[in-house]
Amino acid sequence: SIRIVGLNKLFSSPDGGTVAAVKDVNLEIGAGKLVTLLGPSGCGKTTLLRMIAGFEEPSSGDIFFGKKRMNEEPPNTRDTAMVFQSYAVFPHLDVFENVAFGLRLRKLPKAEIEERVNRVLEQTGLSGYARRSPNQLSGGQQQRVALARCIVMEPKVLLFDEPLSNLDAKLREQMRVEIRELQQRVGITSIYVTHDQVEAMSISDEIVVMNAGVVEQLGTPHEIYARPASRFVADFIGKANFVPVKILSGDAVDINGVRIGVREMPDLEAGTTVTAVVRPEAIHLAGDKGDFRGTVRRVMFLGNIAEYLVEIEGLGNWLVDSPNPAEAGLFATGDTVFLTPSPSSIHLLR
Ligand code: ADP
Ligand code: MG
Repeated sequence: SIRIVGLNKLFSSPDGGTVAAVKDVNLEIGAGKLVTLLGPSGCGKTTLLRMIAGFEEPSSGDIFFGKKRMNEEPPNTRDTAMVFQSYAVFPHLDVFENVAFGLRLRKLPKAEIEERVNRVLEQTGLSGYARRSPNQLSGGQQQRVALARCIVMEPKVLLFDEPLSNLDAKLREQMRVEIRELQQRVGITSIYVTHDQVEAMSISDEIVVMNAGVVEQLGTPHEIYARPASRFVADFIGKANFVPVKILSGDAVDINGVRIGVREMPDLEAGTTVTAVVRPEAIHLAGDKGDFRGTVRRVMFLGNIAEYLVEIEGLGNWLVDSPNPAEAGLFATGDTVFLTPSPSSIHLLR
C-alpha cells in the first residue's frame, strides 16, 4: 500500500513568487486498488503522480510504500512504472521487442524474456501481433502495447497519467474497460490520473477529487456522487442543482415554502439555511402535478434521456433529466411542468 503524509510541492513561478501545486495531501492507497486522481487541468494531479514516481522531489511531507519511506529513493528503484499515451511506443521495434525492451535492458536470460513477454502479450490480447510494427496497429492496440511494456516489468505500482487522452471517445471507453479488467486480473496497485469524471467513475475503487492542489474528497465513486463533500465536488462529478434550503425539524427541509423530506439529515439546527445538491435525474417531471411549478426553457433530446432546463418561480433554473423520452414523450419549450425531487437524492452541503 502507499501512504502519503502532509505532502506539499512548491514551484517557483516566473514572476519570482511560488506556486503551491500540491498542498498538504494525505492519502492511503490500498494494495491492489485502482485509485484515480481527478480534477481540472492545473490542479496538481501530474505533480502528485510524479512525486510518487520519484521524478519530482516533495517540498515537504512523506511518501511511504508499505513501511518504507521513499522520499530519497530514485525513480528506478521505486518499482513503479508509468503508462504513457500510446505514442510512447517505439515505432522502429515490433510489438514483441517493444514489450521486451525493459527486460533486455536488465539483461535477463533470453528464455525468461520470451516467457514473460508472451504471457503479457496474452494478457493484453496482443498474442497475434507480436511481429507487427506499431504503425500497423490501431490506436487501441498501440495503447495496449504501452500498457504491456509496463506490466511485463512486474512493478509494484502502475502509474497512469491521462493515458487515453489522445484516443477518440469510443475507443477511450473500450480501453478504460480493458485497463480496469487487466488491472484487476493482475492485481496491481494503480494510480490513474484523469480530468474526465466519467472515466474516473467507471474504473476506480476510489477517487481522489483535487482542486487547486488540495484534496477535496476521497471516496468510492458512489460516495462521491451521492455525498459530495463540497460544492466543487458536486459540480465536478456529474450535474447538480444547488438549491438554498432551510432545515426543518423531523428530517425535512423547506424549499421555497414547500416541505420536502430528506433521507439523511446532517446534525444541523432547525432554521439553519444550507445549500442542497439536487441531482437532475432525481427529479420527477410531470405535466399535471408536483411540488414545484415551472416553465420549460430548453429541451435537449439525448436519446436515453431528455435534459430540460426548467425555470421555477423564486428558485431560478433547474436541470431535470427525464429517462426514456422516446417512450415518455417530450415537453416543449414554454410548457408548464411540475417538479418533484426525490427525498433520497437531496444531499445537504455543510
Ligand atoms: P494537472 O496535472 O492537474 O493538470 P500539474 O500538476 O501539471 O496539474 O500542475 C499543477 C500546477 O503546478 C500548475 O499551476 C502548473 O502550472 C504548476 N507546475 C507544474 N509543474 C511545474 C514546474 N515544473 N514549474 C513551475 N510550475 C509548475
Ligand atoms: Mg497533468
